[in-house]
Amino acid sequence: MTDKNGALLKLHTLDRERMYLERAAAVLRWDQETCLPPKGVEDRAEQLALVEGLAHERLVDPEAGRLLEELESHGEALPGLPALERDFLRVFRRDYHRALKLSPEFVRECARAEGLSQAAWVDARKNNDFAAFAPHLEKMIDLARKKSEYWGWTAAPGAPGSAYDGLLDVYEPGLGAADIAAVFLPLGKKLSALLAKITAKAAASGFFSKDPRRWDVQKQDAFCRELLGTLGFDFTRGRLDLSAHPFTTTLGFNDVRITTRYAAEEPLSGLFSVIHEGGHGFYELGLDPALRSSCLAEGTSMGIHESQSRLWENVIGRSRAFWEGWFSRFTEYFLPQMEGLDFDSFYRAMNAVSPSLIRVEADEVSYSLHIILRFELEQRLFQKTLRVQELPGAWNKAMEEYLGIKPASDTEGVLQDVHWSMGAFGYFPSYALGNLYGLQFWEKLRECLPDTDAALARRDYTAIHDWLGKNIYRWGRRLEPRRLLADLTGKQLSAEPFLRYIEKKYTELYEL
Ligand code: ZN
Repeated sequence: MTDKNGALLKLHTLDRERMYLERAAAVLRWDQETCLPPKGVEDRAEQLALVEGLAHERLVDPEAGRLLEELESHGEALPGLPALERDFLRVFRRDYHRALKLSPEFVRECARAEGLSQAAWVDARKNNDFAAFAPHLEKMIDLARKKSEYWGWTAAPGAPGSAYDGLLDVYEPGLGAADIAAVFLPLGKKLSALLAKITAKAAASGFFSKDPRRWDVQKQDAFCRELLGTLGFDFTRGRLDLSAHPFTTTLGFNDVRITTRYAAEEPLSGLFSVIHEGGHGFYELGLDPALRSSCLAEGTSMGIHESQSRLWENVIGRSRAFWEGWFSRFTEYFLPQMEGLDFDSFYRAMNAVSPSLIRVEADEVSYSLHIILRFELEQRLFQKTLRVQELPGAWNKAMEEYLGIKPASDTEGVLQDVHWSMGAFGYFPSYALGNLYGLQFWEKLRECLPDTDAALARRDYTAIHDWLGKNIYRWGRRLEPRRLLADLTGKQLSAEPFLRYIEKKYTELYEL
């Protein structure tokens, strides 16, 4: 008993030190994205490499391996061990083995290739020159495949699945390509049909799209801070800052940073970024204090994280009930611009549907189509049924099939996203999974809290946070996505709640 507890304590110390180092690296990265002077970049890269290297050393410390073995020798079930400690061991072991299977040389090779690939992508995108990027993309696919094979995912008989499954497992533990395809493909057909119906019916309201009237950026910021605080973001435990691309990062148990950007010709982009990142922030700030500074103290997967951000951004943040609570305040902030715009037109304008070439500008109906398209292409690349040279053509064909529009250039087509240049294959599905999980949770929440619309209209978010906190936030990585979903809804991944929501909302909005 004493030995077991001693080994566990030592393991917790190693884990805590690794988490502190990772968070120190996150501080350096946050600073780089928000306020680093341009010439500071070179030294910062060195500092980051050192701190991240130290974090990795802690994770794969041979002492950790010895301690894990010692604990395993006490028997698989480790009788008497509290559930929290068992979850800690499961997650620690997963991180440890995953990191150990990649040699330092391989990790360095990946980092080098990623640097070159990203730089090549920036130029290729600027020059609309896919051919210049293609060799780098091939290299990144090859490295990703190798990485997955090192982790033990091969297409060989008896292996747990394909190389692509291994990559998906990084972001969404326990969910394979076949599970995702079974849900995404029928969803794609239905969304595509709904989108065609909407575009045939009416042109989207253009009120907020690149409005030439200027929306004072300082006022946007003041409104967003007021909104975020009212939504429940605790500014004594977090900050809102500006960066080129909005993001959320956790620097400590009581320190979650979110960022946004504002555009003077368009007030909603910054606003919805704030609500989206706020959703990520609520999740991280709602973790059980017992998980503090351990490997469990994070959202359980990218998809579940996105379920929280998208829930706040779209399902809550673009709802009629929500704006019944905020319309008059928003109008007070932006009186000359909002002059003459009634509530219904405002609501319609913020939910305008119009197929866009660019994923990050997509509306709620077409957003998931951008993801399904990328998922299908990734799958084919890893199955080797699609070659990199054929990718632009396949991209354009899929855009026409799903969204009914075709990019005029690769810059606004296959080259638009940074993810592939970084080797982040298997990451895209998280975004659409977030939409699906989010509505599965939301249906359940509304069953438990039938007065939610009334609460939203009076700007009372307490019951929503309490419910999400109790059922989702507090668990961190203790529950894997599948388990979290099953415990809470009794179901596996399903697109039905999302489809029910989207069909009802947009049938009403567009009087289909
Ligand atoms: Zn997000």
